[in-house]
Amino acid sequence: MSAPPRWRTAPPRWRTAPECAFCGHRFVNVRGSADSRSRDHIIPQSWGGPNVEWNYRAAHVRCNGRRGVRMVEGDIQDLARNLFWVLPADYTEQDRIAIARQIVEAFRVWNGLRRRKKVAIEEIPDIVRQIRKGRFPWGTV
Ligand SMILES: [Zn+2]
Repeated sequence: MSAPPRWRTAPPRWRTAPECAFCGHRFVNVRGSADSRSRDHIIPQSWGGPNVEWNYRAAHVRCNGRRGVRMVEGDIQDLARNLFWVLPADYTEQDRIAIARQIVEAFRVWNGLRRRKKVAIEEIPDIVRQIRKGRFPWGTV
């Protein structure tokens, strides 16, 4: 048997995560150094990604700065892992991944819409509207 995926257990919060989400190396404690800890938004801020704990992960300042604004499969996996904190305990890994994909897809649509001058409220995906109001459509937070 191989080791279980690391997201089968609740992940540490970004402030206490031992390793960078991108390079896997530890953080140094020199404030402002390229190797120090920074808070990465998994769904990028430029996409309208929310300022909530489940959208954060720890990354070196340098690694965070190198990240583009694309979302890749690893980002969805990291998001799914963080959903441990906000979904009921009986949700499976597959449930978390499916929900992470729905959230990312909704923000992808929203990000596309935001480039336009006027967006009707009805056009904004409901998932995005709820999350931006501080609600989490599937869970308790
Ligand atoms: Zn790093």
